[in-house]
Amino acid sequence: MIPPRFDYHVPSSVGEAITMLTELGSDAKLLAGGHSLLPMMKLRFAEPAHLIDINRIPELRGIREDGADIVIGAMTVENDLIASPILQAKAPLLCEAALLIADPQVRNRGTIGGDIAHGDPGNDHPALAMALDASFLLQGPNGQRSVKADDFFVGTYMTLLEENEIMVEIRLPALAAGTGYAYEKLKRKTGDWATAGCAVVMQKTGDKITHVRIGLTNVGPTALRAEAAEQVLLNQPFGAETVKAASEAAMAICDPAEDLRGDIEYKTAMAGEMFKRAINKAWSRCQ
Ligand SMILES: Cc1cc2nc3c(=O)[nH]c(=O)nc-3n(C[C@H](O)[C@H](O)[C@H](O)COP(=O)(O)OP(=O)(O)OC[C@H]3O[C@@H](n4cnc5c(N)ncnc54)[C@H](O)[C@@H]3O)c2cc1C
Repeated sequence: MIPPRFDYHVPSSVGEAITMLTELGSDAKLLAGGHSLLPMMKLRFAEPAHLIDINRIPELRGIREDGADIVIGAMTVENDLIASPILQAKAPLLCEAALLIADPQVRNRGTIGGDIAHGDPGNDHPALAMALDASFLLQGPNGQRSVKADDFFVGTYMTLLEENEIMVEIRLPALAAGTGYAYEKLKRKTGDWATAGCAVVMQKTGDKITHVRIGLTNVGPTALRAEAAEQVLLNQPFGAETVKAASEAAMAICDPAEDLRGDIEYKTAMAGEMFKRAINKAWSRCQ
């Protein structure tokens, strides 16, 4: 309950925050919504000597359209994703899935950027970002770089973010009209992390699947893109046999950790089940 002592810094621009990160080095941590970092500090799993609060940097918030893309500021909170008319119209998967993240109070603080940067395989945004073909804009002392969601997650709590970099924005292509989507999340209760989850974005032409991207939540050391399963589905007519074969390909890449949510066999089986439900729902929404 009692976090260790730390110094508190409040930059007003991304540049100022990067200067602070660079000067303070590995003793410093960025504070976003604080709903992963502060719980860890209260348990003394993390003991940064400096917190750099990035809540007062307006350029990190907001949702806008940029041509065919949607750009979401890293400090945009979950409840603002749910309420966004742009996302409701052009990436409704994010609105629907954000409702399954934590609870209303946490969603008023927790940010999409923090959810991704934290690198927790239990978090939902990493697999959603993979299904949505998102990329992340990272800014450091030497400028900006863009990294695909597919490549960003290196291990549990490990990402491509350098110590002195800030995630500035999340960019994703707006879903074309008629695109099907779904996020199926098995959890023990409201506000809990997934036992297993599956995010799908899909398009069809006639009875064939012509585009599909799939991300899996909490069944490996990181979120997983189910590429082999996508290959089983792609350019095939939709049907129970194909979905079953694809779910087996998805289960084959699962490597879950055994914990109070279940053992490896149960979590892998539930990943297969969430996969089937998500594919079926996404298909039913394709036009
Ligand atoms: C009760 C409860 C239930 C929850 N349930 C879920 C759930 O079901 N699904 C889910 O996905 N999450 C869940 N969460 C996590 C929650 O959504 C967190 O808020 C989220 O994981 C972290 O986002 P944050 O903005 O709070 O980041 P913080 O806790 O402030 O930061 C987390 C980490 O990311 C780093 N960071 C943050 N922002 C940036 C940035 N822009 N650039 C670089 N590094 C950055 C920080 O330095 C820190 O290391 C839950 C949390 C609670 C307390």
